[in-house]
Amino acid sequence: MYQQIVILTGAGISAESGLRTFRDQDGLWEQHNIEEVATPEGYANNPLLVERFYNERWRQFHDGSIEPNASHIALAKLEQEFEGDLLVVTQNIDDLHERGGSKRLLHMHGELSKGRCPRSKQTFVLREPFGPEHTCTCCIPAQRLRPHIVWFGEMPIGLDRIQHALDSCDLFIAIGTSGTVYPAAGFVDTANHHGAQTVEVNIMPVDRHSQFQYHLEGKASELVPRLVDNILSGKVISDLL
Ligand SMILES: [Zn+2]
Repeated sequence: MYQQIVILTGAGISAESGLRTFRDQDGLWEQHNIEEVATPEGYANNPLLVERFYNERWRQFHDGSIEPNASHIALAKLEQEFEGDLLVVTQNIDDLHERGGSKRLLHMHGELSKGRCPRSKQTFVLREPFGPEHTCTCCIPAQRLRPHIVWFGEMPIGLDRIQHALDSCDLFIAIGTSGTVYPAAGFVDTANHHGAQTVEVNIMPVDRHSQFQYHLEGKASELVPRLVDNILSGKVISDLL
């Protein structure tokens, strides 16, 4: 039986809900240079362009066509029924985990549905697309909110808490993440170092450099519900293989 589980999710889990993945192979995001729309410098140069870019994504989330899939729902079930500690860390900025029912969740790359005061760092939920009229209520004069997104060159959110959870976990599962972007790519090393079992669920074949002890190849929406049922029935990962 496991006592403490850390789960990392990436773009693959959202892609199975029909969401286009953020980064494509040309280093462009929706025809924009990454430098223009995903760096603090890009935002300083042209905040309206950056807001428009994220607003396009925001509309995609709110047009009613995107729903959490079976893997999001299974992870929420695990959170509710597992008796040990559990933390889901997601690299995704969408709210599909929340919509699936997850609560013990950390968005390490920020959240599309929030704006952030640049001075106090307080976050505010956005119920409509972003605009210059969205200002904070924590400062005088009120500050224009910036997207609550971790851009290139910025530190991911919650690394201390993630590190702490990894230091004492006995099971680490990565789902739908390429495992190539640091610091998330290093989480498996930390978990291995502390003696945890480490499992990756990916639609891609196993990478020969993978540090994971176990690899489950296939769709997250099919594999994760099985994985969750096994964990909840007291089985260990090796029973699945
Ligand atoms: Zn403020």
